[in-house]
Amino acid sequence: MSETMTGAVLPGNSTVKFRKYPVPEPGRGQVLVKMKASSICGSDIRAIYREHLGKGPEGYQGVIAGHEPCGQIVKVGPMCREFKEGDRVVIYHISGCGVCDECKKGYMISCQSKHRAAYGWQRDGGHADYLLAEENTCVRLPDSMSYLDGALCACGFGTAYEALRRIEVSGQDRLLVTGLGPVGLAAAMIGRALGSTTIIGTDISDQRLSLAVNLGLVDHAIMSDEATLAKIMALTGDQGCEASIDCSGAASARLLALQGTRDWGRCAYVGEGGSVSFEVSKYLIHKQITLFGSWVTSLGHLEELVERIDRWGIHPDRTCTHRLPLERASEAYQLMDSGNCGKVAIVWDE
Ligand SMILES: [Zn+2]
Ligand SMILES: [Zn+2]
Repeated sequence: MSETMTGAVLPGNSTVKFRKYPVPEPGRGQVLVKMKASSICGSDIRAIYREHLGKGPEGYQGVIAGHEPCGQIVKVGPMCREFKEGDRVVIYHISGCGVCDECKKGYMISCQSKHRAAYGWQRDGGHADYLLAEENTCVRLPDSMSYLDGALCACGFGTAYEALRRIEVSGQDRLLVTGLGPVGLAAAMIGRALGSTTIIGTDISDQRLSLAVNLGLVDHAIMSDEATLAKIMALTGDQGCEASIDCSGAASARLLALQGTRDWGRCAYVGEGGSVSFEVSKYLIHKQITLFGSWVTSLGHLEELVERIDRWGIHPDRTCTHRLPLERASEAYQLMDSGNCGKVAIVWDE
């Protein structure tokens, strides 16, 4: 094993910089993971790549970027209890204090401690040849899943799964997905596996709509404009969908998700940023809708997700349209920023 490695950092002016780092030595309870796949998340673009917008849990500390890491353990530190060299793992992307209420529930994403650190935000992430990970943030990757499948679960698919779980999507539901970026595609793929019979997706991009159709993830792809709601109603016998999820973060799409939800239905907001304003009586109260906010997922639900993906035999990596080596990370980020793509990932030879 070489002693140095290359890592990519994001200076915040829509560029990527490469630096040399010593290959880290795993300490107590830590493992060294040889990176195999490390995908780019929308929040990397929104809060770090263009400019360093994030604060608190989204504050970027100039570390190696990448919070969707997946790879193979090549070294274990002292006191590791579960994992060993050769194990394939996906990494839940936040290491929490381990002792607060949220950490005990597995929602390290919501840990408030100063000891909380997210890979790729406050501690080195997956855009490097090796990643130093806490053993207790590793989840075993089933043999049927590719490393890229795993990387996509670390944040994006985990986020979609958590929200669909929250709104309890099942075979009784038609599902409306507003925003067909990577998380929207994930929601459609998992929604289908959970049994949803009709999946309607909306977006403002032709390319994203065609991708969702070509991958067979949605039954109906509708361009977002003034006529979208009428089309959703026409497709659902004037009822709307029993469950809906906004993955765009756009105000108009958030409203559309509510408008397109059937009376007594459930709606989740996972698209980040911005704001929304709507007539609360008309769209929420009188429709008897339950509206959820859902942020990332828990360690336990990530574990549950990979187990189910294995059982369902589905492959998140189908949503990945571009796979590039680490030295082409600049291109990968530019592409993701353009939005003219599905998921974009940095991959290493297996
Ligand atoms: Zn993310
Ligand atoms: Zn905590």
